[in-house]
Amino acid sequence: MFSVHHALVLDKRKTNEIDFLVDLLTPQGRLRVLAKGAQKSRRRFLNLLEDLTYLRVHLRKPFKGIYPILESADLLFISEQCRVDLLKFYFFSYVAEILQETAYGPLGLRDFYFLVRVLKEIDERPLKLVYKTFFEYHWLRIQGLKPYLESCVICGTQPKRIFYFHVPAGGVVCINCAPEGARILEREQIDLLRKLVRIDSLKSMEELNIEPLIKEEVTNLIEEFFLYHLDIESKALPILKEQLCSYG
Ligand SMILES: [Zn+2]
Repeated sequence: MFSVHHALVLDKRKTNEIDFLVDLLTPQGRLRVLAKGAQKSRRRFLNLLEDLTYLRVHLRKPFKGIYPILESADLLFISEQCRVDLLKFYFFSYVAEILQETAYGPLGLRDFYFLVRVLKEIDERPLKLVYKTFFEYHWLRIQGLKPYLESCVICGTQPKRIFYFHVPAGGVVCINCAPEGARILEREQIDLLRKLVRIDSLKSMEELNIEPLIKEEVTNLIEEFFLYHLDIESKALPILKEQLCSYG
């Protein structure tokens, strides 16, 4: 009858005069639950149903209807900085939008807790542009969509000197397969892309010593790959980028 889950709040919407339907992201995937009376009695859930709040939720099987009832929720983490730091507010809005639009299947425990840890880390550290790249890269990885870098994605040949990269093809292509629009990657760029796989915290991302130009090109490449393969047009992204630029 009852179950307990760890969950991130993705979204909520009014379903009638008094209740909210709340979308949660859990290690098992997306879950839609009914928060009864949440509109009338704000005290009951306080601000717990805001985007990306991390909760322990207690659910009950409904007597009628299909959505589990949200009996209660314990707060595990909420971004404090996102209330006072405009840049972080935009960053969290971007992450929330991406998760709302693209998180459907089961994540598994490891990737779910990884995501929670990244949100906490972002809250604690001064925001940098590379954090966006870090999030985009790992969300692609979690979705099984990360760029293929080991050999030519079309024929399997290992490029010897010149690496081409083609976003729609999904990664590295050799000189013979390179479709129109493929770009040449510098050795340092391909090395950096390969390193990203092993970098699992923002701290180690920052410690990477990367030349600004290579960093900028890889940042743009990951963003393009991310938007293309997740098939998303982000509303939050232009605002975030504008803010990131104006903060330097
Ligand atoms: Zn090839």
